[in-house]
Amino acid sequence: MQQLPRIRIAQLPTPVEKMPRLAAAIGGPIFSIKRDDLTSLAFGGNKTRKLEFLIAEAQANGAKTLITTGAVQSNHCRQTAAAAARFGFACILVLAGNPTLDQGVTANLLLDQLLGAEIVWTTRQERDQTLDAVFKEAWSKGKRPYLVPYGGSSPVGAAAYAFALQELLEQGVRPDTIVFATSSGGTQAGLAIGKELFGYSGRIMGISIDESATDLKSRVANLGNQIADLLNEKINLKPDDILVYDQYLGKGYGIPAPEEIDAVRLFARTEGILLDPVYTGRAAAGMLDLVRQGEIASGEQVLFWHTGGNPALFAGRYQDILTE
Ligand SMILES: *Cc1c(COP(=O)(O)O)cnc(C)c1O
Repeated sequence: MQQLPRIRIAQLPTPVEKMPRLAAAIGGPIFSIKRDDLTSLAFGGNKTRKLEFLIAEAQANGAKTLITTGAVQSNHCRQTAAAAARFGFACILVLAGNPTLDQGVTANLLLDQLLGAEIVWTTRQERDQTLDAVFKEAWSKGKRPYLVPYGGSSPVGAAAYAFALQELLEQGVRPDTIVFATSSGGTQAGLAIGKELFGYSGRIMGISIDESATDLKSRVANLGNQIADLLNEKINLKPDDILVYDQYLGKGYGIPAPEEIDAVRLFARTEGILLDPVYTGRAAAGMLDLVRQGEIASGEQVLFWHTGGNPALFAGRYQDILTE
């Protein structure tokens, strides 16, 4: 297998813990949790693993400035800003949304500022255009920009999750089913390639946060195949090899359904584990529903892969829904 340049940021391996009280509460499967909320970079999350490879690539390119994009409460942007600070890059974040609608500078947005990122505001529609313009301007001013891909999900970034699956197997954990939040598809593509490379035979179930299953399955399969190319491995994933559940999109990205807030409360009150209202809350609610539907059987060993996102609990926009 081809070695990829990598710097070390994350505290690895992240812990795997049992969740017996959650299992007892729902009379369900044997639950465990992989704590990628504890990767340690500025409140952690799944982007930290990807940044180990992306920062190495930026350094190899001689970059001086990291530029990336996301939503107002992007966890990816917050972790990128922290990695930039830690490795001596400037950071420009192109954020899509309206900060005044967000009840002030809270949560991830507050952390972006604290970490010293320059913020450029745009709208969802104009995001790619603005990003392009910001990149070109930085280049012309000699800032040597490196574009950190959306969600960190280039083949280089997403490869991190192939190695994350290897890490899990080396911890002696072989669940029947792994469940997690999937969005830009990098985490899932990496896990899917890790499954092929390191001999895991269980299911890898992505709960979609904001995309149709059809789109996400083909994106994940393509991205996975590109990761395999990068590692000099011959793997041919097809969209139908990828499990994506898109029945939990509800009212859309960042708008939690009551079941999702219930899931956040259930994890907190049975296990003392904090989820977030955007990603892991949706994934956990989906997982609990799939148990009820029998798609996940009650005798199974199920691992919930916590992908982080905790700061969003403190976003102004979620205070009412989390406290009522
Ligand atoms: C980005 C993110 C995800 C989705 O990961 P992808 O690799 O983009 O699919 C899931 N959970 C959290 C908390 C995230 O920040």
